[in-house]
This record gives sequence, structure tokens and C-alpha cells, in this order.
Amino acid sequence: MKIVVLDGYTLNPGDIDWEGFKKLGEFVCYDRTTTKKEESAKIIERIADAGAVIINKTPITREILDAKPQIKYIGVLATGYNVVDIDAAKEKGIVVTNIPTYGTTAVAQFVFAHVLEFCHHVAHHAQTVKDGRWAKSEDFCYWDYPLIELADKTMGIIGFGRIGQTVAKIAVAFGMKVLAYDEYVNKSLETDSIKYAPLDEVLFRSDVVSLHVPLFDSTKHMINKNTIAKMKDGVIIINTSRGPLVKEEDMVAALESGKVAGYGSDVVEVEPILLSNKLPQTKNCHITPHIAWAPKAARIRLMNIAVDNLAAFIKGIPVNVVNK
Ligand code: NAD
Repeated sequence: MKIVVLDGYTLNPGDIDWEGFKKLGEFVCYDRTTTKKEESAKIIERIADAGAVIINKTPITREILDAKPQIKYIGVLATGYNVVDIDAAKEKGIVVTNIPTYGTTAVAQFVFAHVLEFCHHVAHHAQTVKDGRWAKSEDFCYWDYPLIELADKTMGIIGFGRIGQTVAKIAVAFGMKVLAYDEYVNKSLETDSIKYAPLDEVLFRSDVVSLHVPLFDSTKHMINKNTIAKMKDGVIIINTSRGPLVKEEDMVAALESGKVAGYGSDVVEVEPILLSNKLPQTKNCHITPHIAWAPKAARIRLMNIAVDNLAAFIKGIPVNVVNK
């Protein structure tokens, strides 16, 4: 089977290998093709006569599937597969697979990279030392921001699935209490330190709020001026899920007023971020470029699952199919 990867660079910028795919057929890999639906001609050209198309964020539309009837398999190198026209693929009997889980621990760890940055401002303080300020200091120490101890604070987790539960375990290790909100309550996950609560109570009682619900119409803009108003003054909000969960203009206003003491986010409404996005320049706001998923160990896991997905399809026993 001919295999084409249309945008392999973010998964493998050169530090892991494509060997697993190469063993499964004739293999071509492009670093990038396009993320624009209107550039389908380029996508069609690159697919050429491949039967297996592997993509991350390259859109696979009905038009492309009509133009390339030899496609039998689309492997998405991510959990979210909204870039593929699933209905068109299903009608044509094309199997579409995704990677349901590979980055749970990486994303949970990254939540605390943001949280701890607000607690200690390590990079800032290290820079002041590089700049010679400690050497000139009259005192044996100094700090430029209030330093925050997490023990006994409350971590509110919105969306208590795989990542949310892993975040909770880390929070408990820091001595935090956890309040979780999820539309499905699984009481067996409760402990002395982890309790479910209604959304309003989570918003009202948490010192840190971390978002882990997927993006749906029902969750879009769930963090807005009304929900922020219910939170504690000086709350820290972390978003490693999806940008549109947060109404960005309301977050800018809440940061400027000081209602929100810190917004740490790995995601924004439009990615890559637009230069016109005000968040990065807003005080107490740290935006990272969608890297929570990307430690090498997590990417290797993702690669192995992607290869296993294609191998299982070739054997006639497809797994991780999203369009059954
Ligand atoms: P998951 O499916 O295990 O958990 C999601 C939880 O949200 C589930 O428990 C579900 O019941 C709950 N939920 C869904 N809709 C809800 C609603 N309206 N109200 C309350 N709860 C609701 O998913 P996960 O593996 O924990 O991943 C969570 C999100 O993290 C993903 O959807 C993805 O957007 C994001 N993510 C980001 C990165 C990154 O690199 N930044 C990497 C991986 C995943």
C-alpha cells in the first residue's frame, strides 16, 4: 500500500523516526502541505496514488475524496479529527482512525508548568540574577511577585476525564484540595481530597481553575465574563484544552482589571495565533504555542499508535476507528 504523510513535521521534526510506517508500504512524507481547505488542489496533487493518507491538520474534504477514489484509509495523527469530512469518508467506505490517548501525562504536567510559573516566576527571577541584581542586593533574597504556596489551596477541574484526573493526582501531591466538575459523575473517583461539585461551586471555591472539557458547541466560551464573575478575585485560570473554551476578549478585560490574577494557556481561538490577538501582551497572561502534547516521549507514543492503527487496518481488523 502506498502511504503519504501530508504534514508530518510537528509529530516528527527529525528527532524520532518513521520506520514503522516504512515497513508497511511505499512511504512518502511531506513536512507540511496546507491547512487551508481552499488549497485542495495541492493536497490532491500530493496524495497522488496513495491509498493510505496520514494527516495531522491538513483538511481532507469531500472534494478531495471525490478526486482520489483510491483512498482506503485516513490516519489522523491527533485525537481531534474535525479536519476530515467524516460523513464523506463513511459514505465512501474509507476508514478514519485517530489517536485517542497518548499525551495525558504530558498535558497534565504542562498544566503545572503554567501553574508554577504564576507561583514563582522562575524565569523572571533567574533573569534578574543573570542581570546582576542579586549580586547588588542588600538582602540575601528578593522577589518581584507575590510567591504562592499551593498546599491547602483549591484546584477546580472542569472536565474530569483522563487529563483532568491526572491533573487532580498532581494537585493532591502538592497538598491541594480538588473540586471536579463533569457532566458524568463517577463517585468512585472521589477521595478525601477530590470531590465532585456543581460548576458554580467549582468556580466559586477554586483558587486555580484548569480546563479539560473538549470543545463542543455547549462548551464554547464557557469561560466568559459571567462565569469569571463567579470566581474568586485573584483566581488563576489554566487552559490546555482548546482556545475557544474561553471568550478571549472577556479574559483580557478580567486580566486588566485584576479579577483574574493569571491566565496560562497553551491554546487560543485561532491557531497559529493572530498578531492581533491581545492576550500575549496582556498583563499576567502567559500563552504557549500548543506544546503540551509534544514532549518526545508523548510523540513516540503517538507515532507507535499511528503505526499500529495502519497495521491493524492492513490486517483487516481496524482499531481506533472514528467513523464506524
Ligand atoms: P476525555 O474525553 O478523557 O475527558 C473529557 C471530559 O470532559 C470527560 O470526562 C467528559 O465527560 C467531560 N465533558 C465533556 N463535555 C462536558 C461538558 N459539557 N461539561 C462538563 N464535562 C464535560 O479527554 P482528555 O483526554 O482528558 O482531553 C481533554 C481535552 O484536552 C481534549 O478534548 C483536547 O481538547 C485537549 N488536549 C490538548 C492537548 C494540548 O496539546 N494542549 C493535548 C491533548 C488533549
